[in-house]
Amino acid sequence: MSRRDEPPDPGTRLIDYPWVVIRFRCHFCERGGNSRLAACVAQFGRFATLDRLLHAFMSGCPHDPYDQSRSPPQKYGRKCGAYLPDLNSGRPPDHPPSMTGLSLIEGGKADMLPAEPAPVERRRRVGDADV
Ligand SMILES: [Zn+2]
Repeated sequence: MSRRDEPPDPGTRLIDYPWVVIRFRCHFCERGGNSRLAACVAQFGRFATLDRLLHAFMSGCPHDPYDQSRSPPQKYGRKCGAYLPDLNSGRPPDHPPSMTGLSLIEGGKADMLPAEPAPVERRRRVGDADV
C-alpha cells in the first residue's frame, strides 16, 4: 500500500504529500502561511519530511525550542506552537469546503422529524359505552 493513500503525518515525505499547498500555523505567534509543495521541494528536496519543514518554520520563531544558541528550554517556558493544520486530515487544504463535494452523513430521510404531527390514534377506554 502506498503512503499516498493515507492522510499526511509528520513523517510524510514531500514526494508523498498529496496536495499542492502546505499550510503552516503557530498557536502563539502571528506567523504562518501557505507554501506551495513545489517550492518546498525546491528548497528542501523531495525526500524531506513534513517534520523537517516544521522545524524550519519554527526556526524563525522567537520561541523556537530547537535553537541551541539560546538558553536551554525551560520545562514550563514558552515553546513555539507551530503546527501543520492539514496533518492527519483527509481534506485538501487548497479546496474550499464547497469544492470537496457532497459527503455522506449518518442517517437519512427516515431520521428526519416529520413536518406534520403523526395522526393521533384514538383509543377507547375499556368499559366506555358507545354513544
Ligand atoms: Zn511560533
